[in-house]
Amino acid sequence: MAERGTRQAGADGGAGRRAEPRPPERVALNVLRIPADGELEEEGELAGEVLELEKDPVARSAGAIRWKLRAQFAGSEILVRGEAEAPVELRCAKCGRFFSTSVAVSSFLRAYERGEHPESLDVTEDLREEVLLELPAFPRCAPGCKGRCAQCGKDLNEGPCGCVPPKGFDAWSALDGLVLGKDGPEGDGKHPNGATK
Ligand SMILES: [Zn+2]
Ligand SMILES: [Zn+2]
Repeated sequence: MAERGTRQAGADGGAGRRAEPRPPERVALNVLRIPADGELEEEGELAGEVLELEKDPVARSAGAIRWKLRAQFAGSEILVRGEAEAPVELRCAKCGRFFSTSVAVSSFLRAYERGEHPESLDVTEDLREEVLLELPAFPRCAPGCKGRCAQCGKDLNEGPCGCVPPKGFDAWSALDGLVLGKDGPEGDGKHPNGATK
């Protein structure tokens, strides 16, 4: 117990490195500041942790989500629109490596009952949901990612592996058959890329 206390003190007070201030964990708009005849425009940050990607095998948060929102009254509703951008690391669906990118919400739009939010309007959950919806189902680290060798597992972006397809490996001829079969009824208008290889 004493040991743990010492280590914490060391980590806090040590090397003079100041901890970055943590971004807020909520986005709450002050309804009282929305002008009767105009828009309230606000921007800020939201902690990436709210995405709760800690256990996600293919996506990680990589920093604060930046957001910019505009709120206005529309009858009995509060209309909120805007955008957000979240830095993330995604696992490439082809080669399995994590790469840095960001997901952007370009047209956030939600309506809230004014009576339910007389003073403060918390849009954290809706913003979170929109960001998660923008995560690609099959992320690629680069458009031309070569993926991994099916035999040895080497990342082919780092160079060829020298594997020779085993004898009797007929995936290519099977594919040829498939392409020919497809080609027949459709004529020559729609050659898939690489069909001639
Ligand atoms: Zn890749
Ligand atoms: Zn290989």
